[in-house]
Amino acid sequence: MIETATTLIDLFSDTATRPTDGMRRAIAEAEVGDEQRREDPTVNRLQAAVAELLGKEAALFLPSGTMCNLISFAVATKPGDEIILHRTAHPIVAEGGGTPAFSGALFNPQDGPRGMFTPAQVAAAIRAPSRYAPRSRVVSIEQTTNLGGGGVWPLATIAEIAKLARANGLWMHCDGARLLNAVVAGGTPAASYGSHFDSIWIDFSKGLGAPVGAVLAGSRSFIEEAWYFKQRFGGAMRQAGVIAAACLYALENNVERLADDHANARLIYEALRAIPKLHVEDVETNIVIFDVEALGVTAADVENRLGEQHVRLSVMGKTKLRAVTHLDVTRAQVESAARTIASVLRAF
Ligand SMILES: *Cc1c(COP(=O)(O)O)cnc(C)c1O
Repeated sequence: MIETATTLIDLFSDTATRPTDGMRRAIAEAEVGDEQRREDPTVNRLQAAVAELLGKEAALFLPSGTMCNLISFAVATKPGDEIILHRTAHPIVAEGGGTPAFSGALFNPQDGPRGMFTPAQVAAAIRAPSRYAPRSRVVSIEQTTNLGGGGVWPLATIAEIAKLARANGLWMHCDGARLLNAVVAGGTPAASYGSHFDSIWIDFSKGLGAPVGAVLAGSRSFIEEAWYFKQRFGGAMRQAGVIAAACLYALENNVERLADDHANARLIYEALRAIPKLHVEDVETNIVIFDVEALGVTAADVENRLGEQHVRLSVMGKTKLRAVTHLDVTRAQVESAARTIASVLRAF
């Protein structure tokens, strides 16, 4: 790519990544078969690799992370059951109401800083068995937290919540869209997180840089049930090895480099922190959230001004913006974007 002054620096989301030449070669060379008959060797290899990574018996390739959440909750709940999760969690804010629509389960939203809640909140949210109340059935945790600003749940907190869940017969689900960011940032192995969950998945179309795909993992019996819903929801594919090859390539080449994205997010954080009155949330991984309210401007004002200077962020509310780093933005571009954002904010 030729970088010119007018090249857009896209920090809207880590979904902005496009397959690299190496990934495209892997796609071109993929061995394929009929995936829904379990005959695609590349899909089978990917499923085995993710099951092993997450310390689970089996795994299932799906078109999206959204479908991983949808299917996990479909397996784990009956209509009227309740799912305990954060108010800003993806299934509540960004899945078109899929779980309530298709599974009839209810959400029991929890509040708390950085997209997280406490074991005490879970204990309080679990309802005593009664035919008057919905049945508490699932606790769902987002690792890392997306709207929470890329926060990493400590393993010890997850363990405590899992213990409570088990004691009360609840299912533990991990929305691991960015689980590997947590692994790279904190050094906890993916399987250590995996051990606390009945269902857990990772996304390949975020920071890992693949164009499509997510893999859901769990026990063999859970994955057999998940296959049923994969078919029902139209997620069963055919020669899906062409997209699974990109995911395998990402696993081999794009995991450790997530540390670069984290360093780049920190660079933006440091540049923003130097701006008087600006509220910048802590940065742990590849997401930077800041609030411009005290500058007396709206997020849309900032977005427009940045757009004129070829920097794209996402607006998260009236005065909140989010920048997400990823493998399609170089260090030099991040440095340039940080300077642009700082100068735009200082000019208000
Ligand atoms: C992106 C995302 C999803 C959904 O993944 P898709 O592959 O885009 O469907 C779910 N949860 C979180 C936290 C996400 O960031």
